[in-house]
Amino acid sequence: MTLTGRLGSSSRPVRIAIIGAGPSGFYAAGALLQQKDAHVSIDLFDRLPTPYGLVRYGVAPDHQKIKSVTRIYERTMKDRRVRYFGNVDLGADITHAELKAHYDQIVYAVGAQSDKRLGIPGEDLEGSFSATEFVAWYNGHPDFRHFSFDLSVESVAVIGVGNVAMDVTRILAKSVSELETTDITDYALEALRDSSVKRIHIFARRGPVQAKFTNPEIKELGELEIADVIVNPADLVLDDASQAEMEGDRTARRNLETLQELAERGPTGKPKQIIFHFLRSPTEISGAAGAVNAMTTEKNALKETSSGYIACRGIGAYTEYDVGLVFRSIGYRGIPIPGVPFHESWGVIPNEKGRVTDEHGGAVVPGEYTVGWAKRGPTGVIGTNKPDAVETVKLMMEDVKNADGHGGAGDIVPLLQRKGVPYVSFADWQILEQIENERGALRGQPRVKITDVDEMLRLIQSAKAEPVLP
Ligand code: NAP
Repeated sequence: MTLTGRLGSSSRPVRIAIIGAGPSGFYAAGALLQQKDAHVSIDLFDRLPTPYGLVRYGVAPDHQKIKSVTRIYERTMKDRRVRYFGNVDLGADITHAELKAHYDQIVYAVGAQSDKRLGIPGEDLEGSFSATEFVAWYNGHPDFRHFSFDLSVESVAVIGVGNVAMDVTRILAKSVSELETTDITDYALEALRDSSVKRIHIFARRGPVQAKFTNPEIKELGELEIADVIVNPADLVLDDASQAEMEGDRTARRNLETLQELAERGPTGKPKQIIFHFLRSPTEISGAAGAVNAMTTEKNALKETSSGYIACRGIGAYTEYDVGLVFRSIGYRGIPIPGVPFHESWGVIPNEKGRVTDEHGGAVVPGEYTVGWAKRGPTGVIGTNKPDAVETVKLMMEDVKNADGHGGAGDIVPLLQRKGVPYVSFADWQILEQIENERGALRGQPRVKITDVDEMLRLIQSAKAEPVLP
């Protein structure tokens, strides 16, 4: 059916596709629904049957309070102007050209699905992983459920001091009793039950003031049941530039206070140790028989650049640490979507405040927008995506005024059906969610995650086939 009338009128709503049903996609949908000047109709797509992106597959299983943000997203889905299409992969199930034909505006909310690399020898040895892989594994992401991590080793290295590094460290350092009431996957809990990991070495290339973790996360490490935190007091002595930086940064001040408390406390005899190493960059991961057995680091010194950034540089003093696993936790990075511009070195979709451009600083691509990590890179907490989405939506509404709309090919459903794409609606997802919640309730867990896409689809089908009792 081809709709007629002014774009944004009740007879011809702006047809919008949002690609990616994580926080940034939902905040974009929420902001669009609040627009008074234009009628909108929104289709929210996700590659996986399950919505919520990093809330489900990134946020740590022991941070359930953060996950409760999905209640807001559920409210968005109650609005009849929004539909959910899970299990639809842009590029594989549906092409960019097909999307363009069916929608007036497209919003890429695809996040940053890959990770940065260190670029050092040995990075690809067995036992060297990205934090992204470990996080996605313990959180039950269908693409990572078959990974295995050899937790029979005693020492592990975590590289980077952001919140993801804190999550990875905490999961490795927690007792089974601390984890079994979370929604960590069964297979991860079993692997961690048998874990021999005793020492988790965390390497920061710069000093404690430059650490990216937030204060609750570092405090939490100091409160673990079976792990001590070891901080060398000498690492907390600041150079003048760091001292000045800290004075203007409340989080850095609090972090330093917490690190000082941890340094004073020292080891208390708990079976596991989390050992911080500041001013150390990994230079080589080495192995025997193809698997990691050590990592070499170089000592760094800090130097303020002309822009005020406090950079680090190696000073030629090397130390080798015996470690059997390495997790690089140095940041996520986006991956390109066929047909959509991509800034290779930044790993984002080039854009101007959310309007996609054909290259950095280039011409605007009409009708295409981006939000979240795909737009600004992998920084900020979940809530950061809300003002970010509002910024993009404001431009989308400005553009509607000058556009005729090209998404005249009508509803996407006939196309998906013709192509045999087994898409999942929001009601279908709620069937799955109920199964997960019921399984969890029996075991005192928030949910028991289903991690296999075929099983998800089977469960939805069989629940829908059951006769409804009067
Ligand atoms: P991040 O906060 O950017 O931290 C990355 C860390 O890696 C930094 O310490 C960085 O050091 C280091 N690094 C980068 N390149 C390196 C290299 N070549 N060698 C050594 N170290 C290197 O990233 P993230 O931890 O992945 O977190 C991503 C975002 O998600 C952040 O905004 C984070 O706050 C958020 N998040 C929040 C929570 C939560 O709220 N609980 C949980 C998880 C994630 P430099 O500073 O020197 O670059």
